[in-house]
Amino acid sequence: MQTRGECVIVKGLTKSFKKALWVYHINSGSCNGCDIEIIASLCPRYDIERFGIKLVGSPRHADVLLITGPVSRQMVDKVKRTYEQMPDPKAVICVGNCGNTGDVFYESYNLVGPVDKILPVDVYVIGCPPRPENIIHGITKAWEKLETLEATA
Ligand code: SF4
Repeated sequence: MQTRGECVIVKGLTKSFKKALWVYHINSGSCNGCDIEIIASLCPRYDIERFGIKLVGSPRHADVLLITGPVSRQMVDKVKRTYEQMPDPKAVICVGNCGNTGDVFYESYNLVGPVDKILPVDVYVIGCPPRPENIIHGITKAWEKLETLEATA
């Protein structure tokens, strides 16, 4: 029997994709809430690897950058460097309200974000923190963008 979460995931994937999608995750100053939800989407209940979505340990191997947090001053250079190290074509997914808007940290003295002030964000996943279903949906949106780019290249 399927759980509610599994139903949502199956409905969200309206087509199959040509190749596996490799994802690099960076925390730009989040409270770890969003990061825990990313881990949850990798764990057996959601198990995104079965769709070919895999976390990798280097941005040089990644198609997608999954970024959490509002970008603290200490993380700006690291975030930019990580993005520059990724090969083209690439996509950026911003996970969580802090990265998308600054949320409760908006206009804090130590923030340089939100993320789209620093990187070109392709998909905004909202929530504090977003549920794994939302994160997986965001990744499929990035996948569609990359396949569209490949088809028009
Ligand atoms: S959006 Fe919420 S859970 Fe995510 S980093 Fe910000 S405060 Fe934490």
